[in-house]
Amino acid sequence: MNTTIDDIVSLCKRRGFVYPTSEIYGGLTSSYDYGPLGVELLNNIKQLWWKEFITKREDMVGLDSQILLHPQTWVASGHVTSFSDPMVEDKKTHKRYRADHLIESWLEAHRGQNAVDFKVENLKVSDMAKFIAENKIKSPQNNEITEPKSFNLLFETAVGVISGDKSTVYLRGETAQGIFSNFRNVVDSTRVKLPFGIGQIGKSFRNEITSGQFVFRTLEFEQAEIEYFFNPDDTDWQKLFKSWQDTMWRFVVNILGIDKSKLRWRKHTDSERSHYSKDTYDLEFEYPFGWKELWGISYRTDYDLKQHQEFSKQKLEYRDPITGKTFMPHVIEPAVGVNRLFLMILVNSLRKEDKRLVLSLPPKLAPRTVAVFPLVANKPELVEKAREVYRLLINADIKTAWDERGNIGKRYMSADEAGTPWCVTIDYDSIENASVTVRNRDTTKQVRIQQADLVSYFRQNLHKEDDEK
Ligand code: ATP
Repeated sequence: MNTTIDDIVSLCKRRGFVYPTSEIYGGLTSSYDYGPLGVELLNNIKQLWWKEFITKREDMVGLDSQILLHPQTWVASGHVTSFSDPMVEDKKTHKRYRADHLIESWLEAHRGQNAVDFKVENLKVSDMAKFIAENKIKSPQNNEITEPKSFNLLFETAVGVISGDKSTVYLRGETAQGIFSNFRNVVDSTRVKLPFGIGQIGKSFRNEITSGQFVFRTLEFEQAEIEYFFNPDDTDWQKLFKSWQDTMWRFVVNILGIDKSKLRWRKHTDSERSHYSKDTYDLEFEYPFGWKELWGISYRTDYDLKQHQEFSKQKLEYRDPITGKTFMPHVIEPAVGVNRLFLMILVNSLRKEDKRLVLSLPPKLAPRTVAVFPLVANKPELVEKAREVYRLLINADIKTAWDERGNIGKRYMSADEAGTPWCVTIDYDSIENASVTVRNRDTTKQVRIQQADLVSYFRQNLHKEDDEK
């Protein structure tokens, strides 16, 4: 059975993965909070990313730069002038919409009738204005709309207390600029040699107008970005680009366990690509609302370092330790939204079966690896034995939940929806012979295991997939 976005949203609310932000006040547009299970899943994704891209690689280092940077950063990067989306306004409701999205919906509705065969991404703002006028495109409420205008996505705020002394700063629109502005520091303070990359995970902010895609597109989100620097004279950028594409693909398919048939590459067209980029691809996932960008990879040339060198008047060139030659490194950027990985994983894992809803998360991503239950909650000897097993697992660093509410059936249902791969039930035999029942979430099969073997059983199963790859 197909999973809809409504299935995901209601599961997330019911089980404590995601809640609407400020819900008691009626919510805040395109903003979500991560609940007790959601934060665990997010952390697991980030830890896996960090492990694969930073810890395990000799050619990568990490960074954690600020959300507020010197405002000149965003002038140099071009965001102040050109980080914008084409917007139109509904003349009656004054609601704003992305012009490209309205055109896309119109094309979708008129598919086949007009033999319209072009990509919205190819259109300039003036072309969009023409297209909207020619086809009399209206707002979703069927009202007249204004001409499209560029709308900057950067959030502005101010540093300083006294109004006259305040200066404008921006909440970062991407984490990448903190990497470029620290390039010199990293080279000077570490042993990195080209080619090498700097990666960081952190919050970014964009004044997005489109809403209704759950955590896919939010005002505040988390990015995991890599800037991979290299010498363009001794490195074939196309080969390097391809190898990064393969690495991204492997992470999504092998590490996160995503079904290949829901993934595809899309090359950006010339007019869609940023002016400084020589090549850009999106790794797209088939979300319930269509194929959408999960992870972008772009060859940004030496544009950013050059811009920062010019605006800061500081030398940002790299000196080759062997040849002594100085030059500006070029860069390839694989940039992903952690929240889009999160949504993809939920979509890929949620299964509706005849009588149950199961979140088949890979064990290493599951918020809890095991749930422990006493068969019944009102028998102190069972509760005591179950507590012993619970402590055994917790002390072995196995993420374990405790549940003694309701009956076993309800507890299984709750564990299935929470994505917990194994449930351990303690019954009277457990007291007699120290064996417990372990139930597998995906197969619902139960096996009897000795308490003393539990830790190694779960550890082996947690790492089984890694060994198979
Ligand atoms: P889109 O075309 O969907 O707006 P983008 O091309 O502007 O995305 P990038 O600037 O390439 O996105 O940012 C890198 C990654 O950050 C994206 O691939 C996406 O995963 C994530 N991302 C960007 N904007 C958002 C957002 N508003 N909410 C959640 N994730 C985002």
